[in-house]
Amino acid sequence: MAPAPTVTTTKPTLSTDLAAVAANTRTLMAHAPTAVLMAVVKADGFGHGAADVARTALAAGATRLGVTSVDEALALRAAGIGAPILSWLNPVDADFAAAAHQHVDLAVPSRAHLDAVIAAASGGPARVHLHLDVGLARDGAPPAEWAQLCRAARLAEQRGLIRVDGVMGHLACADVPGDPSNATGRTRFAWGVEVARATGLRPVHRHLAATAATLTDPRTHHTLVRAGAGLYGIDPSGTVRLRPALTLTAPLVTVRRVRAGTPVGYGHAWTAPAATHLGLLPLGYADGLPRAAAGRAEVLVRGRRRRVVGRFSMDQIVVDLGDDAVEPGEVATVFGGADGAPTAAEWARWAGTIEHEIVTGIGPRVTRRTR
Ligand SMILES: *Cc1c(COP(=O)(O)O)cnc(C)c1O
Repeated sequence: MAPAPTVTTTKPTLSTDLAAVAANTRTLMAHAPTAVLMAVVKADGFGHGAADVARTALAAGATRLGVTSVDEALALRAAGIGAPILSWLNPVDADFAAAAHQHVDLAVPSRAHLDAVIAAASGGPARVHLHLDVGLARDGAPPAEWAQLCRAARLAEQRGLIRVDGVMGHLACADVPGDPSNATGRTRFAWGVEVARATGLRPVHRHLAATAATLTDPRTHHTLVRAGAGLYGIDPSGTVRLRPALTLTAPLVTVRRVRAGTPVGYGHAWTAPAATHLGLLPLGYADGLPRAAAGRAEVLVRGRRRRVVGRFSMDQIVVDLGDDAVEPGEVATVFGGADGAPTAAEWARWAGTIEHEIVTGIGPRVTRRTR
């Protein structure tokens, strides 16, 4: 466990431990020694700060960045980051011209996208990665359209309009290494690469693995792995110990003493069974604390776990401090950081969700810091 952070601000604060991100980057690379690492920093780096995470991962050995939208890619360029960036999820009318101008590589999941990228390209061929759906029925070209997409891309490449740098796929069940759909996904991806080669394409980057497959299945590594969750200490496969990087803290706004039988919060969903102290934290579901965690959630105050009581409000939650007359201003750790504090994984369990949703859900009112 990392030592407890020294909290120097009394506002609700989300701090990112960049040393943890660097360590996780190295762990991911060690599991995929034959591939290069694309650090996935979509959704503001899973809530950890995209530009800071990007710089940290690149310094630790990642060579490329991955995001969903062109806007996310352009924000990284605006932050002064020059590394190759792949953007893989865009409507056909996205600003592909701006992407080309800023040397942002684009994933192409359909013929309509290919045409839009070609139309927007000027001043040199746009670099694209053709995206094959290997089993999610979500993003990526359906296999039935793949050969046609490859042929059209090859023609455009021969005319100097694009350069097909990569072929990509994404697995549906990589967090369950034994799931039979993983073998199907690998086979489909290998087929997709063969079809691309047969049309004359020579993609340098062939990539299928995200974090879980990076950590569990070398057969998915190909030339490049795309890791998001793992950078942030989340292993969806539950096989490798990584370092959580995010800590959420907030100061107690008030502390009050209440008598036994005092009902608390909206709907009077909880009633104090005995006299106690109640602390108020200025964080609620608008800040990303899931309302579904009511009745189970805990926070750390003065080295001890305390129950969150009653319903979560939009802006605030109430904490049962028992006999401790803690002073207002005392900083509570909601998750991460301090020894004994709840983890984002625990919050996910309490709310019936996954860690990803907890860490990406913290709202804009919370101050961001790195350490
Ligand atoms: C989010 C995403 C990733 C990263 O997945 P993790 O499991 O977070 O590593 C990789 N590829 C695609 C297409 C994604 O959308």
